[in-house]
Amino acid sequence: MQDDDGGASDRITVRRMPERAQYDRDAINEILDEGLLAHVGMVTPEGPIVIPMLYARDGELLYLHGSPASRLLREGRGVQLCVTVSLVDGLVVARSLAHHSMNYRSVVVMGEASPVEDLTEKSRALDVISEHVIPGRVAATRPHSEKEVKGTLVLAMSISEASAKVRSGPPIDEEEDYLLDTWAGVLPIGIEVGTPLPDPRLASDIAVPEHITKWRR
Ligand SMILES: Cc1cc2nc3c(=O)[nH]c(=O)nc-3n(C[C@H](O)[C@H](O)[C@H](O)COP(=O)(O)OP(=O)(O)OC[C@H]3O[C@@H](n4cnc5c(N)ncnc54)[C@H](O)[C@@H]3O)c2cc1C
Repeated sequence: MQDDDGGASDRITVRRMPERAQYDRDAINEILDEGLLAHVGMVTPEGPIVIPMLYARDGELLYLHGSPASRLLREGRGVQLCVTVSLVDGLVVARSLAHHSMNYRSVVVMGEASPVEDLTEKSRALDVISEHVIPGRVAATRPHSEKEVKGTLVLAMSISEASAKVRSGPPIDEEEDYLLDTWAGVLPIGIEVGTPLPDPRLASDIAVPEHITKWRR
């Protein structure tokens, strides 16, 4: 549902703070590639629902996966989805409460999702999701069994209808408030990585692999 000139469709056009909108594919891809969690919304016969899920981008496609019993995936044949990915970069602390904000990068993708039926493509899509979450993990694990691939549903959705919205920088206060004796600024926040906890059932004293020790976002 893009405009004839390839621009943003009406429903994906950012109206509030449009100066924070970005529609170019590189900006959108960068956010999608950094995010881990998507909020996936759809309208069901029981009403609207938004479910947190993993996802991954593969070129022009987004993949979602899950159990065949999952409602989003079960109803996924030609279903209209709205997928939102948000990265929180900082708390914006202003001189007045009204101007407190967040620094963030987020993407909204709308469109129709369809199941991936071909087993080879499905297996590859599952690898793409794994690599998105933990780069290097696919090479370090055994290949999927046919039973695992058959027992998992995968949906593919085009990223052609998408918008990004980004806020960065210091607070924007009322001009007269800059004279106030109130601290203001940005508290950067992000994903903190802890120390890996080996599974107590490891087959032997296996060293933690680099793709785990060096995992960063
Ligand atoms: C970080 C994260 C990543 C996830 N990744 C995936 C994924 O990649 N694939 C996948 O299939 N599932 C994933 N899940 C689980 C997913 O959120 C759903 O629970 C699952 O897909 C089943 O959805 P459903 O609508 O079929 O559930 P149902 O059991 O049919 O939902 C019934 C009701 O249960 C409640 N419910 C369902 N899920 C949740 C939830 N997560 N939190 C709170 N209440 C809930 C809601 O009220 C919902 O209306 C993830 C969850 C989290 C938190």
